[in-house]
Amino acid sequence: MDMLFGKQYLIDKTQLPEDQQGLYCRAGLVIEGSLVICQRCGERHRKSDVQLPSQCYYCPSCSRYGRITSEDVLCWQEHRLQPMAHQIVFPGPLTPFQKALSDRLVKHYQAGRSMLVWSVTGSGKTEMIFETIAAARKKGERVAIVSPRIDVCRELYPRIQQAFPNEDCLLLHGDSEEPYRYTNLLVATTHQLLHFYQSFPLIIVDEVDAFPYEGDRQLHYGLQHALSETGCLVYLSATPSDRLLKEIKGRFEIEKMPLRFHQRPLIVPQLCWIERWRQLDQRKKWRRPLINIMRRLAEKNFVLVFCPSIPYMERMAALVANELSDYIVSSVSSKDPQREEKVLAARQQQFQILFTTMILERGVTFESVSVVVLGANHSIYTKSALVQIAGRVDRKGAFHHGEVLFCYNQMTTAIRQAITEIKHMNQLAERWLADEM
Ligand SMILES: [Zn+2]
Repeated sequence: MDMLFGKQYLIDKTQLPEDQQGLYCRAGLVIEGSLVICQRCGERHRKSDVQLPSQCYYCPSCSRYGRITSEDVLCWQEHRLQPMAHQIVFPGPLTPFQKALSDRLVKHYQAGRSMLVWSVTGSGKTEMIFETIAAARKKGERVAIVSPRIDVCRELYPRIQQAFPNEDCLLLHGDSEEPYRYTNLLVATTHQLLHFYQSFPLIIVDEVDAFPYEGDRQLHYGLQHALSETGCLVYLSATPSDRLLKEIKGRFEIEKMPLRFHQRPLIVPQLCWIERWRQLDQRKKWRRPLINIMRRLAEKNFVLVFCPSIPYMERMAALVANELSDYIVSSVSSKDPQREEKVLAARQQQFQILFTTMILERGVTFESVSVVVLGANHSIYTKSALVQIAGRVDRKGAFHHGEVLFCYNQMTTAIRQAITEIKHMNQLAERWLADEM
């Protein structure tokens, strides 16, 4: 029975244990008229589409978590409160601004209010949630810290462990090597929440605007159902989408953090007109302005060049490597088998120019870097993506001459909004700093 503690399991109706004390069960699939509604992932299907030869029904939408049929029940045990008082181990002192925001988050949580922390890239948002986690643990509550992105989870896990050294913490994702066990602190991908039912009074979602969570109905359902009935949500984002802001309006407290940890403003992107950015491979003459930009930037720091597609990235990297033969030029994309090695090499400044795609849009920090977005008006670049990419520059370290260049040949709403948002956050930061003096 211990396995049922804190997690929702799928059990065949006929296999239910005799001793059901403390055990809660609900049907795996609910049938309403001609529809079959999955209770694990929330998807609805027509009966005729999902009937098995045995006459029972199944849900095709969440079969990757194990097939659920109308013969199954979802079972769990209520969680026990296990209070623990923590002396948080911070990696360094919080700035007075971070501390003030951290205190406000604790207050919202204690009042049972969900919140969005809209915090610029490089502001140290993870450290600002530690005190809220500690407040929940003091009451005995269980806390999940989740993200749509596995690399974000991998990065969060050691930081949570370091901050709460006396607490057992588990990292759970699709490729986890560690089997599930009950812990009061869980770091997991948002997908994993489909395995939990009303298990967490506090769920923190990092990078809530990132793919694939944004707009994924199943993951939203998983999150809502993993949260206790009176639970609190904390969304963390540097770039909340309009859709998200609309969804939480009036229901969530919104706390903005416009200041980066080092308190220098965000770098405002410069616009650079490149008429034929799509056909730069065709004529050397057309490439000349871009080559000049790259040479100028590479003279002073590492240059990251974002491209809208992998084939385009490969063509451009090869041409630039040829024309700037005195520089070390490379490229990396999601399809690259050496992806991790190359990102590490880039962090160690082994390249001078690195072409890339959206994989380096967020979650990575390079020191002394400038960023060029080639074809910034391509539809792949949403406002959030552009703000995130611009946010790669001047995140930390003493060097602060990095630049952000958006190369484009048509103005888009995303470009305009990204620049407006960056400027707005800088103005807010200026006001905060002025008020403090
Ligand atoms: Zn399902």
